[in-house]
This record gives sequence, C-alpha cells and structure tokens, in this order.
Amino acid sequence: MKSTMQHVPLAISRLLNQGSRFHATSTVVTWTGDGTRTLTYAQVGARSAQLAHALRGLGVDADQRVATFMFNNNEHLEAYLAVPSMGAVLHTLNIRLFPEQVSYIATHAEDHVVIVDGALVPVLSKILPDMPTVRHVIVTGGADGTVLKRPGVEVHAYEELLAAQPTEFKWPEIDEDDAAALCYTSGTTGNPKGVAYSHRSIWLHSMQVCTAEAFGFGPADKVLAVVPQFHAMSWGLPYAAFMSGASLVMPDRFLQAEPLVRMIEQERPTLAGAVPTIWADLLRYLDDHGGDISSLREVVVGGSAVPPTLMRAFLDRYGLRIVHAWGMTETSPLGSVARPPGGLDEQSEWEYRISQGRLPASVEGRLVGPGGEVLAHDGVSVGELEVRGNWVTGSYLHDPAPEKFDDGWLRTGDVGSLTPDGFLHLTDRAKDVIKSGGEWISSVELENHLMAHPDVVEASVVGVPDDHWGERPLATVVLRDGATADPAALREFLAARVARWQLPERWAIIEEVPKTSVGKFDKKALRASYAAGELDVTSLA
Ligand code: ADP
Repeated sequence: MKSTMQHVPLAISRLLNQGSRFHATSTVVTWTGDGTRTLTYAQVGARSAQLAHALRGLGVDADQRVATFMFNNNEHLEAYLAVPSMGAVLHTLNIRLFPEQVSYIATHAEDHVVIVDGALVPVLSKILPDMPTVRHVIVTGGADGTVLKRPGVEVHAYEELLAAQPTEFKWPEIDEDDAAALCYTSGTTGNPKGVAYSHRSIWLHSMQVCTAEAFGFGPADKVLAVVPQFHAMSWGLPYAAFMSGASLVMPDRFLQAEPLVRMIEQERPTLAGAVPTIWADLLRYLDDHGGDISSLREVVVGGSAVPPTLMRAFLDRYGLRIVHAWGMTETSPLGSVARPPGGLDEQSEWEYRISQGRLPASVEGRLVGPGGEVLAHDGVSVGELEVRGNWVTGSYLHDPAPEKFDDGWLRTGDVGSLTPDGFLHLTDRAKDVIKSGGEWISSVELENHLMAHPDVVEASVVGVPDDHWGERPLATVVLRDGATADPAALREFLAARVARWQLPERWAIIEEVPKTSVGKFDKKALRASYAAGELDVTSLA
C-alpha cells in the first residue's frame, strides 16, 4: 500500500520564506571591526530576491554555479538563500586555500559568477586569471574592483546591482534531489573533491540541527557562527537559523579572540560553533584579560577532537558547557553530537561528553576491520568508521572515487569504536594514527594528555619514520610564556598517564602548531618540517 501523504519538494526557498516572513524581526548582525551592521530576516529575504534578479540578469538561468569568496556576513547569507532558491548552485570557495587549489576547484566546478568580499579583492585578483569559467565578479562592501578587470570578465558592485531590483522573486519549483550547494573537501591527500548537497539533504540536515539532540535552535536564540561559511556550510547553522528563526551573529573577518569576546559581550549570543583551536585561543584570552561570556548557554565544538581539559576549563572557570560533535564535509556535516543519556553520575556523564557523540537516526555507522570484516558495536572493537544516511554523500562531483566507498557506505578515514548505544569514540584519523611495530598509538590521546599540562599551550603528535619500529611518535609542543617544563619533564608527565611503549622519544618545542585552512592542526606540514630537518629535535629514550 502506498501512503496517502502529499509530496512537497523540500526546497531551500521554503526556508527562505519561513525565515523572512514568520521570523521577519529576527536579525543577522555582521561585525565590522568598529561596530555592527544589522539586518532583519525580512530585509535579508528582500535582498535575496534582489540578488536572484541580479543574477538572472547576469545569465544565471539554470544550475550555473555561483561561487562565494567570502567571510561570514549578511551578504554571504543572502547568497546562501538566493542562489539555491533560484535553482542555481551555491559554491562556497575556501578563501584560505593555496591559489592553485582555489583555481582548480573553481574550474572543476565550472563557476560562472564569483561574489567576493571587498576585503578579499586583492587575494582573488591573483587567482582570477586562472579561473577561465568565471564571467562575472560581484564585489561587496563598496570596494574598488578595478584590479579584477580582465577580458571576458565583468566586474559589478553588489549594492549597485541589488539596488535596481524588485524585492520579490517567484522562486521556481525545483526537484528536491537537485544540487543546491557545493563544497570541496580540503584535500589533505590528492586533489580536493566536490560534495554536492541537495535541497532535500540540506532541509533534513537543518531539521536535525534544530533538534534538541543536536543544537536545539529556537526563535529566542542568537547564534554566533564562527565556523566559516566555506567550511562545511558553516555546519548548517545559517539554514537552521532561517528555519527556526534563531538570529545570527556573523564575525566577518574578525576571528581573533579579542574581537570575538567583544562580540559576545555586546551581542550576547546564546549559542556558538567553532573548531577547538578557536576556543583554545578564546580561553587563553579570557584567562589573561577577563570577559563576560555568560550569555552563551552552550557551544558546539567539533572539526577535530576537543581536548577534555579544554571542556573542563570552560566549565570550571566560566560555567560554559562545550558540546562535542563530529562530522565531515561529506556528511553535511552532522554527524554525531555528545549528549549523554539522563540519570548518570558525574563521572559517567563525563565519559559520554568527551566522546564524539551519538549518531542520529539519519546517519548510520558501522566499523570495519583491516580484513573488511564488520566489527561489533561493543565499545571495545576498533575499526574504520563507515557511514550512510540521508545527508551523507554517495559520490563526489565528476569523481566516483571508488576507494572512498564500501558497498554504499562512505569510508570516513576515522578510526575508533562504537558503543551499543551508538556513541562514537574516535582514536584518530587512519592517516594520523602512529603504527609502531604491530601496535597503534593514538596521536590524539597523547596530545590530549600533553595539553592537560599547565605549561603547555598546544601539542601535536605525529608519526615519523623509525628504523626499528617503522614509525614512532614525535611530540611538538608550544609552551606558555615563562614555562619551566622541558621535554624530559613532559615525558615524565606522560609516563604517568600512558603505557611506556607509547612515550615519544622525539620532542620539539615550537612557536606555534601549523594550522590547516579551517584551523585544524596541520600534521602533514609538521611531518614535512620534520622530514626537511627544520625542527630542533631533542631525543630522549
Ligand atoms: P578536513 O578533512 O580537511 O579536515 P573536514 O572538515 O571535512 O575536512 O574534516 C572531517 C574530519 O575531521 C573527520 O573525518 C575527522 O577526522 C575530523 N573530525 C571532525 N570532528 C571531529 C571530532 N569531534 N573529533 C575528532 N575528529 C574530528
């Protein structure tokens, strides 16, 4: 028997309508450095319609790709809403990638238009000559776009382009399975790969973000979206905000701890999302300078493993609850969220909270061992996590990448265990786990212990070649000003916490751990520095 239910496409234009009509007075605040720019969702809706008309005028009449080269701000939000709603495909370019990567991605995606923040015009001007598919560049913020001019490319000013347009747009009927947005993985190995989200997958994912199981967005919330709009769609926060009526606070290019604390004090957001390195910076800033972050009821942190000491420090010193989440570009990105079951004592609750969290009903997970065997969800067996679900990609754009899929499941490259009640405990990324003799050492576990030492600001552990063991851990550590600990003391500190055979013999005190384009520890760069003999390594046996 077929159901009797209606079928209405899950279109982004419905999110746009919901937010701009029923949550007309919710706001998006964009930080400008010395102040803010505030627009209501009604205004964002009207400007999205104007943007869609303007894009039509530039020849966007089907599924052309409209790229953004932008920070988090109201204009970027307008592109998020207008481009998919008009039936085109939004492509969020990562502004921090190397120029060759950006041009490769833009050409692979066949971007037709690029919307660029005024502040990023100098960066784009160096890449644009290698973006042969681009016909139009739209510059925001009233900046001069003259340097972008070249044969075959027209340059427009965002506000001028919008000003002449009507504030209503008749959004077309779309197929919910059509692509709405495109995001490339940052390509730590090989070329970046394109993930095309559908209207349907974004819709369902937005509903998940709004659930209490995930971020619990409501109309009284104000969400500080620090995670870039080019990093896995800002974890879906903008769409979920338009769905639920939660207001948004956008930091634009002001991502350092000092302006972030000022933003929190002034705008009083209730929720926030960012990678662990941002929160670690914020914690150091607050410890040194003070600040009021009491408006935040919780913050969601993911993208890499959150050190338990960071979670403890925020809770003990600032009463702030960090919620740990796992996800990837390929999973839209949610992913699991660590919300413990009720009725637990403090210690057991903590064990749940430091895990990567529970997989939701729409994302199934399984663990696969080295021989391809499916392992038990017993909290003990360790294997590669594979996932499938309604907002998990089933292939890559123009790239079937068979090595990334296993019988319809996405191979995540993450290694860990699953408990019978669905909680994920990641040991490491498969490529970062240190293979010493026949045994595996988790780089993340060593880092977490090291970062619990009071003298340590950051610590990153990578596997380096070793004649005897194949690979051994190298610990790179950033020390606090005035720290007294040295590698020998740190090794002794670790010795009380991990098995002896896991203790690193190689140590380097460094100025800063290199970061990837989305703010994660860049272990590839560390391994390369070690191989090139650039690190001052102390050997301890
Ligand atoms: P990139 O691979 O360039 O970092 P993504 O943002 O898509 O791009 O990264 C997804 C990966 O980030 C996951 O496969 C996992 O390795 C890591 N990750 C994300 N969240 C967590 C977490 N909470 N704990 C540990 N690793 C995480």
